[in-house]
Amino acid sequence: MPLKAVLFDMDGVLYDSMPNHATAWSEAATRFGLTMTPQEAYLHEGRTGHGTINILAQRHWHRDATQQEMEQIYKVKSEIFNTCPAPLPMPGAAELLQSISRLGLTIVLVTGSAQHSLLDRLAKDYPGIFAPERMVTAFDVKHGKPHPEPYLMGLEKAGVQASEAIVVENAPLGVEAAHAAGIFTIAVNTGPLDPNVLLDAGADVVLPREGGFSQALELIQQRQGTTAAE
Ligand code: CA
Repeated sequence: MPLKAVLFDMDGVLYDSMPNHATAWSEAATRFGLTMTPQEAYLHEGRTGHGTINILAQRHWHRDATQQEMEQIYKVKSEIFNTCPAPLPMPGAAELLQSISRLGLTIVLVTGSAQHSLLDRLAKDYPGIFAPERMVTAFDVKHGKPHPEPYLMGLEKAGVQASEAIVVENAPLGVEAAHAAGIFTIAVNTGPLDPNVLLDAGADVVLPREGGFSQALELIQQRQGTTAAE
């Protein structure tokens, strides 16, 4: 099937925001008597905030977190995140998005984030790329990544089949979600993880942070048939 759409994760792909998330999670967890190292935050990346909090609650309190606890902890995490220096757009992401847009492909955002601050910045940093009706956020889904629902909803918003799309992700749970939705998944390893973690999660290709977006564009062009390579 010809390629028609590219589905983009946000944190760690469009923004170099993961160091801030890792810090915020670690500090917020500590304030509530829970423990999460910044390193562990990278493994939970892409999970909804409430899902992550529940894992910590199970581990430390041996029960589910209440709705109130989830809201309180997530609020504190968001407050700390918002005091961190504003994350910069990932180098090369704007060029990749513009190239994909010029190819005439549909671009959809699929994020587990509920950070209004970042969602608001998309319009400024990537003008004309992300329409509200082609965005899936934490507010839209019942099941966050690694469940396939966010990517299945992304396909629906793009109006395409799984075989007509490509996903660009950076985190194991995001890759798992995209793979479970049956979509060809490019993982760009922008964080500190061993690339094998991404392959094990189901990535079809793992690219390095340096030069990864250029290689991703080549793959996308090949899949679209706009380059000679087949
Ligand atoms: Ca991510």
